[in-house]
Amino acid sequence: MRAPLEESDDRIPHDRHRAGILEHGSVKLLTDSGVNGRVLSEGHRHDGIDLRFDGRSHRIDFQDLVGESVWLYPQNEVFVDLAAARERDGGDVRYGVRDTEVLDVTTDTSKIRVTEADGTEIEIHCRILVGADGSQSICRKAIPADVRTDHFIEYPFAWFGILTEAPPSAPELIYARSEYGFALISQRSETVQRMYFQCDPAEDASSWSEERIWDELQRRVDGLDGLELKRGRIFEQMVLPFRSYVCEPMRHGNLFLAGDAGHTVPPTGAKGLNLALADVRVLFRALDSFFSTGSGALLDAYSDTALQRVWKAQNFSYWMTSMLHTRSDATSFERRRALGELAAVTGSRYGRQYLAEAYTGGPDN
Ligand SMILES: Cc1cc2nc3c(=O)[nH]c(=O)nc-3n(C[C@H](O)[C@H](O)[C@H](O)COP(=O)(O)OP(=O)(O)OC[C@H]3O[C@@H](n4cnc5c(N)ncnc54)[C@H](O)[C@@H]3O)c2cc1C
Repeated sequence: MRAPLEESDDRIPHDRHRAGILEHGSVKLLTDSGVNGRVLSEGHRHDGIDLRFDGRSHRIDFQDLVGESVWLYPQNEVFVDLAAARERDGGDVRYGVRDTEVLDVTTDTSKIRVTEADGTEIEIHCRILVGADGSQSICRKAIPADVRTDHFIEYPFAWFGILTEAPPSAPELIYARSEYGFALISQRSETVQRMYFQCDPAEDASSWSEERIWDELQRRVDGLDGLELKRGRIFEQMVLPFRSYVCEPMRHGNLFLAGDAGHTVPPTGAKGLNLALADVRVLFRALDSFFSTGSGALLDAYSDTALQRVWKAQNFSYWMTSMLHTRSDATSFERRRALGELAAVTGSRYGRQYLAEAYTGGPDN
């Protein structure tokens, strides 16, 4: 048996500059399913976020508004926990496969072919095939174009993301809208921080000096309260274009899509990984029912059930994105209206409550 995965293991996707925020339902799923409790011992509970505009921060207090929290726990750590749980439970996981092909998903002989890391070609026959292969999914392409609807929009901006060796600049996430565009001040640990600012999708990340990056981030959070970012060495900088996408239906024959294979959201609402875990929860119940009772009713309902949550999360992510970002061609009316929207949301308990409920995961958990 292979050694348990460590943070330095090359099977872990370290290049992923990704999720950090887990809804309370995602945390419960990880702990209830026995993956392990590291998220509770090593993750950081966040009871709110700050919305910052006009140079002032407005706290959205999740505990006060909806009695819930989220956890800051990087996606790499979730991956380590899931992989370790599969190894512990004797699961057969093949890392580093290539040339994946998905075949005959509407027949009794559904199969997947891959070339393993050592060059061996294998074919696996399966009763149920779960396509959880991310936003570039090849499984999705096994759903014929005349059966599938691709709902898709692209945004005219991207995120410039950095990882820096510095202490946290704030205890919770700050979502800032400024006249220069959006910035997100996020955290990763006591010594490493993650931050983003809105940029042009064609921006060349490597052409930016550290000083220029820090000055750009700082001017987007400047305000009368003197908020000052704690600067440090930047050891990763990249541009992340984003889009909203939903594949409908998420099931075709014996093939079931889950996670980014079926839908992607812009990262502003921190929903992507949470949606992937929510799909898995719905699919697990359906598979459990199918294999224990022989009833396919929940499998038949899978796509509709999953999509109900997906579309709510799409709405939330789209809303947060449009409220906080500034299009380069925005008129003065549009810029002022957006500030009016932020003032309306933060100035009303109902407004703050909607945001808190949607951000922490809502009643669907
Ligand atoms: C900047 C950024 C910030 C984000 N922040 C958050 C956040 O705070 N909260 C949140 O919930 N989400 C966040 N997300 C989104 C989140 O990272 C994704 O939604 C999540 O990774 C989706 O998980 P997945 O398992 O569906 O896909 P992935 O994580 O992409 O995993 C797909 C897997 O399939 C494998 N694979 C792909 N193709 C093949 C193939 N042909 N054959 C075999 N294997 C294959 C890949 O190697 C990979 O292991 C963020 C994303 C970005 C870009």
